[in-house]
Amino acid sequence: MEKETYLGVDVSPLSYDEIITDLKSRMIQGEQSTIIAVNPEKVMAAKSNSELRSLINGSTYQIPDGIGVLLASKLKGGSIRSRVTGVDMMERLIRFAAEDGYKVFLYGAKQEVVETAKQKLEEKYPGLNISGIENGYVKDQDELINKINQSEADFLFVAMGSPRQELWIRENMKKLNVKVFQGVGGSFDVFSG
Ligand code: UDP
Repeated sequence: MEKETYLGVDVSPLSYDEIITDLKSRMIQGEQSTIIAVNPEKVMAAKSNSELRSLINGSTYQIPDGIGVLLASKLKGGSIRSRVTGVDMMERLIRFAAEDGYKVFLYGAKQEVVETAKQKLEEKYPGLNISGIENGYVKDQDELINKINQSEADFLFVAMGSPRQELWIRENMKKLNVKVFQGVGGSFDVFSG
């Protein structure tokens, strides 16, 4: 897949719609996909941290969340001209899931936050099936993996801050029957507010 590279960090030059089109074909092929938001802070941190760099570059889509990534792209003759933010990407995926009948699991944030985020999203997107939620402070990981698989979720949003959420996704994705994973930071707090 086409990428632009800044200080060794890959960024996908795809729009929201292009990512969703690409995701659809990966889903049909039975491939799992991961989405990570990239901003200048992460690019700088990854410069001297090869572990973080491989976490970012090992993701399927590195979305240009920060304005600094757009500036870098423009200066270096790249094609990234608009931001693809983590919170808006999540909302686009939620809409896609509601329209195409895919199930969604929300994992992360405080219990009341994740509960309210589910309620508000289901109100906003009729037909949306959030088939499971879990707060970001659970201890029993085996139970959590079972719970996510039993929910039959196709999309999993993990809101525990970066890079904790992406490390969790990388460690657990092969145990999960989920197709699309996104680390979404404080987005459940946004949707519940
Ligand atoms: N969080 C969590 N478990 C933890 C630590 C944090 O679920 O062990 C949640 C926290 O409740 C908040 C989110 O992670 O909802 C943190 O979002 P933040 O804005 O710090 O992430 P960023 O967008 O900066 O990556």
